[in-house]
Amino acid sequence: MTQINRRNFIKKSALTASGVLVGSSLIAKGGPALQPSGEKGGAGPIVISTWKHGIEANEAAMQVLLNNGNALDAVETGVKVTEADPENMSVGLGGLPDREGNVTLDASIIDSQGNCGSVAFLEHIVHPISVARLVMEKTPHVMLVGQGALQFALDNGFEKKNLLTAKAKKKWEEWLINNKYEPVPNIENHDTIGLIAMDKNGDMAGACTTSGMGFKMRGRVGDSPIIGAGLFVDNEVGGATATGTGELVMKTVGSFLVVELMRNGYTPQAACKEAVNRIIKGNNNLSNSQVGYIALNKNGETGAYCLQPGFNYAVFKNNINQLFDSESY
Ligand code: ASP
Repeated sequence: MTQINRRNFIKKSALTASGVLVGSSLIAKGGPALQPSGEKGGAGPIVISTWKHGIEANEAAMQVLLNNGNALDAVETGVKVTEADPENMSVGLGGLPDREGNVTLDASIIDSQGNCGSVAFLEHIVHPISVARLVMEKTPHVMLVGQGALQFALDNGFEKKNLLTAKAKKKWEEWLINNKYEPVPNIENHDTIGLIAMDKNGDMAGACTTSGMGFKMRGRVGDSPIIGAGLFVDNEVGGATATGTGELVMKTVGSFLVVELMRNGYTPQAACKEAVNRIIKGNNNLSNSQVGYIALNKNGETGAYCLQPGFNYAVFKNNINQLFDSESY
């Protein structure tokens, strides 16, 4: 389908669905969540990603897939849009700093062969996802952190930048007045970006990138760069990624769990729900926490589930890029 036809198709479809158009994308209105889960998807290209910022990331990722790019290039290209957005205060440039005023980034990437790369506690680099990819492709390791990750990035031609925008600095200065460590779920409503893509051949890859919890302790690392926690892809089964309180996701190895449940016959939706249930079982007080999972299986079915209302996710499938409210506990 040519680009023009594709856009016409999106426009036409959008008029008949319960939603509003943003650019060439459909945003679901309030009311009952529109769940794409259960639909038989067939082969790709399909892209799914976390939060509203996923709409733009999906557009970029889908463009790669429509140009016969592979899933790995698509996921990297997609999340780079979010990383480069200075208005987004939870990913890459413009991310909220730690309690000492430093923006520190976590990211991970997995290809369809099961190769993985990640970086954590990385400072001064706008695109940690690309550094994670280089760790995967150029080193015998999976993960580099802190100063070592930065040195590796600089040695490979990445530029050192100040990631603390005036807007994020102001938020940090306001936070310093009370200096209370109280993460509020959904407060930015556009946290980590996790994105899973399936290309035309049905091969899958995933990427996950974040500045982590705002005003975290210096050195704190969340789930996003931890393979199996914030992100997991098994090209035989499917992929999953997480957002929200990273500690809860890490303790339950959430994304790996979602994929393993799908391997055992759960739909993506049921698998995400069960992974949230595991968190609920082990914790009495989750009122200040949010966890959201999204998943895509080999049949092209998608699903999502979260702890509390407020999490949404974007699915680009069958030529429509749509935002959905996730079902919640
Ligand atoms: N999961 C991320 C972390 O814990 C943050 C988020 O998605 O809100 O660092």
